Amino acid sequence: MSSPLYSWGRYPNRPQTGMTCGWRSEIPARLEQIITAHGSTLAYGNGRSYGDSCLAASDQVLNMRSLDRFIQVDWQQGTVMAEAGTTLGEILAIAIPQGWFLPVTPGTQFATLGGAIANDVHGKNHHLRGTFGNHVRRFGLLRHGQEILTCSATTTPELFAATIGGLGLTGVIAWAEIQLMPIRSSQINSTLVRFDNLSEFFALSAELDHKHEYSVAWIDCLAKGDKTGRGVFIVGDHAQYGSLDRDERPKRQVPLTPPISLINNLSLHAFNEAYWRLHPIQRTRKRVSYEPFFYPLDSILHWNRIYGRRGFQQYQCVIPDIAAEMAMRELLGAIADSGQGSFLAVLKRCGDITSPGLLSFPQPGTSLALDFPQKASLFPLFKRLDAIVSEAGGRLYPAKDAHMSGHDFRKAYPDWEKLEALRDPTLMSHFWKRVIA
Ligand SMILES: Cc1cc2nc3c(=O)[nH]c(=O)nc-3n(C[C@H](O)[C@H](O)[C@H](O)COP(=O)(O)OP(=O)(O)OC[C@H]3O[C@@H](n4cnc5c(N)ncnc54)[C@H](O)[C@@H]3O)c2cc1C
Repeated sequence: MSSPLYSWGRYPNRPQTGMTCGWRSEIPARLEQIITAHGSTLAYGNGRSYGDSCLAASDQVLNMRSLDRFIQVDWQQGTVMAEAGTTLGEILAIAIPQGWFLPVTPGTQFATLGGAIANDVHGKNHHLRGTFGNHVRRFGLLRHGQEILTCSATTTPELFAATIGGLGLTGVIAWAEIQLMPIRSSQINSTLVRFDNLSEFFALSAELDHKHEYSVAWIDCLAKGDKTGRGVFIVGDHAQYGSLDRDERPKRQVPLTPPISLINNLSLHAFNEAYWRLHPIQRTRKRVSYEPFFYPLDSILHWNRIYGRRGFQQYQCVIPDIAAEMAMRELLGAIADSGQGSFLAVLKRCGDITSPGLLSFPQPGTSLALDFPQKASLFPLFKRLDAIVSEAGGRLYPAKDAHMSGHDFRKAYPDWEKLEALRDPTLMSHFWKRVIA
């Protein structure tokens, strides 16, 4: 019997039983087996979604992670076709030495190809390259009782659009082909600059985003008053010269889950203050390897365990440009007042490149993401934050969510009915059950 599977935040606490698929040809039989016994299921990638979107309503998932073979690569054109359980890190491992990189990557390289498509993930270059879905050429989709169907924007436009950002509900992605981006070096030239408040963040973003491939800010979410939104702005570009080496530094790990969270208000205040002070006032240039730049949290395996057995929730919203600065001020004010918060909150301007995905999360505006240890006092705080987001015309990210109301979801994602119409009726997540009820 294999160990139970969870989502990254371990909230809600819904252990999943995983049925493993060793070969693509086994997917239909495995799917049939779970559906016959339990009525419904859901594909599970590597459980890097925080909330309940990767948890099957039946608590019985089809574990795709062992489907991790490369099917076809073309280093002239920079295309990779691989099984859906292949992780983004595994793709980088073969692509970097050939001078190619993922055109879009989230903040973890442990996400799988299938998971990256199903959540239409975005990264630090959303303002230039859109979402992961913008770089998907085609994929193989298995719907219950059918053969694997090759989907693309031209051959099956509706299923293609519904599956990108489709939360795993339109079918099981067996394989996918993506277009990579050429690079000359795996090193990143980055510039860091400390800023004192939210207005300075928006000024820096307006000045720097269009000049750099990557842009993101880490902020101290507990700073109050005229320090609200202070943080460190980071931009970066692939170096033009240097090696095409992979980063193979050994990783540390949190060995076990403590009974209670190691994150408390004292440690949060101290850490946020120290992190901000650590960075000099002047702009600082650094050349860094790609791993610490894109995936700082991946260097500590199982870091989610520090939140203890109750787990944690991430709150990620995006607010349209017109209301962004005012709404961010209100959100950060409410968070600082509550005294609850994150080690590092992430602020990022999203661009206006349209995703092919029907239910894609990013929209032109500013995104804020923070982690909160799970406790009862989160609910009133989230209620307040949700009201600010809704009033500002923003929305929450399903990949991170475990609390959004059905009303807020349906208002923010009016195309949900189109996805529901194309959903494979044998696929159902706890998330979808919660928000469409
Ligand atoms: C440290 C960290 C940083 C992150 N940073 C970002 C970020 O910057 N930007 C961002 O967008 N996200 C970010 N995320 C979220 C993460 O990238 C997404 O949740 C991603 O989808 C997880 O992929 P996974 O393979 O683990 O999929 P899972 O979490 O297992 O599943 C996610 C969804 O994909 C579906 N799915 C998985 N495999 C398949 C398949 N083969 N066929 C059909 N559906 C499938 C599942 O049903 C589920 O709906 C981050 C997560 C972590 C832990």
